[in-house]
Amino acid sequence: LLGYIGIDTIIEQMRKKTMKTGFDFNIMVVGSSGLGKSTLVNTLFKSQVSRKSSGWSRDEKIPKTVEIKAVSHVIEEGGVKMKLTVIDTPGFGDQINNENCWEPISKYINEQYEKFLKEEVNIARKKRIPDTRVHCCLYFISPTGHSLRQLDLEFMKHLSRVVNIIPVIAKSDTLTVEEKNEFKQKVRKELEMSGIEFYPQKEFDEDLEDKSDNDKIREAMPFAVVGSDKEYQVNGKRVLGRKTPWGVVEVENPNHCEFSQLRDFLIRSHLQDLKEVTHNIHYETYRAKRLNDNGG
Ligand code: GDP
Ligand code: MG
Repeated sequence: LLGYIGIDTIIEQMRKKTMKTGFDFNIMVVGSSGLGKSTLVNTLFKSQVSRKSSGWSRDEKIPKTVEIKAVSHVIEEGGVKMKLTVIDTPGFGDQINNENCWEPISKYINEQYEKFLKEEVNIARKKRIPDTRVHCCLYFISPTGHSLRQLDLEFMKHLSRVVNIIPVIAKSDTLTVEEKNEFKQKVRKELEMSGIEFYPQKEFDEDLEDKSDNDKIREAMPFAVVGSDKEYQVNGKRVLGRKTPWGVVEVENPNHCEFSQLRDFLIRSHLQDLKEVTHNIHYETYRAKRLNDNGG
């Protein structure tokens, strides 16, 4: 009989490798202007993802976003380094003619695929290609309580072919608990009726366990978030929140909103999967098309 071979050390080997090289993780935020995208970018960096790094200073107002802009922070925990990049985008839908308004966004996404492809086919290929590909795209839905706009549906339909879409309900502090739950249900139904597959896509569930885990997540989506980059004192603790005349909405309190669920989903449970779906499905589709175009 064979003795111990040591196959299980692969986990330790992978850990060591990751410790050495670190990894990239890139999140993009899109949606109409004024929905709190730039604020949420700051919230992510200021929340427990990285207490130490600072975004804008406390009293500075977030300027209106006029171009696609990537902000990166290297975050280290337990010796593992993650370069987290959030790509902020200008709001769309302000124009009279909103036709093809997703084009600058899909152009940016494709440009990152192109960059990666160029590095891959390079003869003097880098040992580790810097990864600027968008691993997930948070789509901000206006908290109207009504139907999604045609523009939202069109936008998500186009983008869902090139990137992992994660719809979120913006500024959810403006909805009552009932309104929030009804709206979430309504959005899910409308997305399904329009044939829009958001992440985690059903077709990529690998087994029953995957399916049941992801079904739970899909039923909890779209996460209804609140963003803020201001800190307040609540019960002797400093918390990120929005101060209102009737109290502080605590961004990271799961009883107040679903920001922490979203963050844990992105980072603690699905980060690796988001990267894999990006590489194996979205990037692969781009690559196959490009190489085909060239050959034929
Ligand atoms: P963007 O255009 O999508 O980037 O939106 P901004 O982040 O610039 O925010 C627009 C305005 O909405 C600012 O006054 C923010 O303080 C406010 N805001 C951002 N997030 C929230 C939120 O979750 N709830 C509420 N009520 N207001 C928010
Ligand atoms: Mg902005």
